[in-house]
Amino acid sequence: MPPRSALRIKGVVRAATRVRELAGDLREPQDVTRLRAMIDQNVEVIQSILRLRGATVEDLPGPSRNAARYLFQLDVDQLAAHVPPAPAPPAAPAPQPTGTPDLFGDLPPAPLELPPAPPPSRGPIRITGISRDVEDISRYCNELIRGQCEFTLERITQIAIDAAEHNDALLLEGDAERLTPKTRASRGWIAFMARKENMQQMVRAMKSLRSVLANVSNPDMAAAQLHFRNTAALYRVRQRANTVIMTVPTEMISFGDADMQAIGRLMDGDPLAKSDVAAAMHREAYLAITRELSALGGHQENAAGVHHDLHAAFARVDQQYFHGSLVRPLMEWGTNFASRTMGLYRLSEDRITINPGLDRADVPEFVIDFLVYHEALHKQYGLGWSGTRAVHHPRAFRDSERKFKRFAEAEAFLAQFSKAMLTGRVLDQPQDNAITLATPKPDKMKNKNRKRKRRRSR
Ligand SMILES: [Zn+2]
Repeated sequence: MPPRSALRIKGVVRAATRVRELAGDLREPQDVTRLRAMIDQNVEVIQSILRLRGATVEDLPGPSRNAARYLFQLDVDQLAAHVPPAPAPPAAPAPQPTGTPDLFGDLPPAPLELPPAPPPSRGPIRITGISRDVEDISRYCNELIRGQCEFTLERITQIAIDAAEHNDALLLEGDAERLTPKTRASRGWIAFMARKENMQQMVRAMKSLRSVLANVSNPDMAAAQLHFRNTAALYRVRQRANTVIMTVPTEMISFGDADMQAIGRLMDGDPLAKSDVAAAMHREAYLAITRELSALGGHQENAAGVHHDLHAAFARVDQQYFHGSLVRPLMEWGTNFASRTMGLYRLSEDRITINPGLDRADVPEFVIDFLVYHEALHKQYGLGWSGTRAVHHPRAFRDSERKFKRFAEAEAFLAQFSKAMLTGRVLDQPQDNAITLATPKPDKMKNKNRKRKRRRSR
């Protein structure tokens, strides 16, 4: 028998993810039947492998253990209670899982493969030529502010409207959810710019940025082509042939002249400029564009969950702790069971993600509320700054966090839960590329702080 630590079962995380997807989207009794069969089959296979190895679920590596536990605890009857009854005669009985005994006639070497999951409906969708449309529209605007464009602003807007309609016409119902991230971002951008006021705002922002670049120390920047596009960086400069191209996030069309000057200072190496830019990226005007781009691109929120609804959790938290004043960010149950992060707020998407392993009946509602509260505080506080260093959980943040009614209980539950779930770290430094790209943390520092963070962070 191999040493216990070598026990790996391939496909457990994938199976749990698929089960979760189906469990969150039960529409008809047949779905319940399918779900039950999927769970039974996977649980049976996992248990027979464990039996054969004389192992328990505790012997699996963290992500598989977490996923297996999730499968074991799902109560299909409880889920089925929400599904409307069938108008037709009752569904066929669940297909009996087949092949399991044969599979283990001989003890195969680890890792073992679970029976293949039913094939995914269809693959991801890409719209050919969509980036070219974005590129063209953006270039026309650059030519416009230089007085070199053959089109008027109205005409360019019309080009965006036509492109947006064309994109929509290509998609069938349900397709929008399956766009590749790149296509989704381009689709959202084009639909956003198809509104005249947004296009006007972009042109105004281009002019503002251009006048700032005329005064930075790098003389090449004055002639740079400017793109307000989907990017995770604060800004990006590259050279193509004889043209210098500068890309900044689309949301920066909400920047005023002073914010644009902060970008100029950042380019000239002023270490304090970054906190000014970050603060401007945290304003509601900026985040509203983030959410709108995401919605226009066709991104689904996935907040409903199986046992806990994140929108409801946010509503409770907002009422109780923010006087109903906080604008709701996008909210989703994550899809990654392998993740060690309990909760995460991404400023660059104005989105709260909660670990799918917590969507369980035995996780109390106040624990979900507490996590949502913690992430909502990230939205409210933004980054604190200690000189040029970003501080994710400044003192004021921690003080507010302790105002949660059942703070100690929630902390204790999560500590226990994560300890049980994984032996490893539980981290949530907001991994926001928009902020961290410009200041990569030296690895040494990360290691030094890891132990402490493990205990403090979520
Ligand atoms: Zn945090």
